[in-house]
Amino acid sequence: MGEAVDPVCGMKVDPSKTPYKAVYKGKIYYFCSEQCKRAFEKDPEYYLKHGPVGMPHEHHH
Ligand SMILES: [Zn+2]
Repeated sequence: MGEAVDPVCGMKVDPSKTPYKAVYKGKIYYFCSEQCKRAFEKDPEYYLKHGPVGMPHEHHH
């Protein structure tokens, strides 16, 4: 307990410490940075389907 994984980059995040979180379909997701949070909010389904794909600037579409 006390640990979450950033769905965007795969980094471990402490839910009690990170200010970056988003609720999607009733579930709370935690992020290591504002950048990851924005990337997730932009396309949540992509990250939930594919899993962490690296930092946002390393995306390959
Ligand atoms: Zn991240």
